[in-house]
Amino acid sequence: MPSFPAYRPRRLRRTDALRKLVRETWLNPSQLILPLFVRSGERLRQPVESMPGVHQTSVDEMLRDAEAAAEAGVGGVLLFGIPDHKDAVGSEAWNDGGAVQQAVRALKRELPELVTITDVCLCEYTDHGHCGVIRRETGDVDNDATLELLAREAVSHARAGADIVAPSDMMDGRIGAIREALEVAGHLNTRILAYSAKYASAFYGPFREAADSAPTFGDRRGYQMDPANVREALRECELDPKELQAEVDRLYTRWTELEEKRAETVNSTQPS
Ligand SMILES: [Zn+2]
Repeated sequence: MPSFPAYRPRRLRRTDALRKLVRETWLNPSQLILPLFVRSGERLRQPVESMPGVHQTSVDEMLRDAEAAAEAGVGGVLLFGIPDHKDAVGSEAWNDGGAVQQAVRALKRELPELVTITDVCLCEYTDHGHCGVIRRETGDVDNDATLELLAREAVSHARAGADIVAPSDMMDGRIGAIREALEVAGHLNTRILAYSAKYASAFYGPFREAADSAPTFGDRRGYQMDPANVREALRECELDPKELQAEVDRLYTRWTELEEKRAETVNSTQPS
């Protein structure tokens, strides 16, 4: 790029038409996602104090909000579930009759064009409010034991019809685990929207109130990132696609093994 005076960036800023012509970023309602907080019940609309205008609602009321969003051209909704019962492992998360699963089915029936995204995490569902199961010996969130539960939750959301599942937990290895579970269950078109670099931050405070997911002891610094680390955030962002690639490789290997086995069976006169 030649420099001044041959290159004068201001030339492209002279008129509104020129500025529009070279504008790099456009904001359109179709690019926006509306978070919705659902719980069981009927005609329920409970205000979230920390976010005026935001409510926890039952599925019927949620549909009204989603309809208004769709009419305004909003591209998608992101569902958070508040269960009636919480337990140590968050088992309501993969209940096919849970509030989120019911909400997804209602949305796909009434507003099929609206992209339906579900939050995948355990903190809304565990009685201790942490994003995974607690290892008794250490009091820590058990990373690997949590992966299977997150995968179960994601598959339940996909089974209800979610277009995208959005894991927000920050466990290591969850993208690969969720992708594998979705593939095995036949949900090939369900996409994953990962919170790849999520910080342990007060920024999420109002969301914790809305999703009723604040931890009852300790904090999330053992699994969510330290806000002081930018390079680590970039590394986290690189990890998720790598996990998917590893998963594709693993599935391909498994498929190849099955194919080989099939070929052996076909070529063999012995019963298999
Ligand atoms: Zn969480």
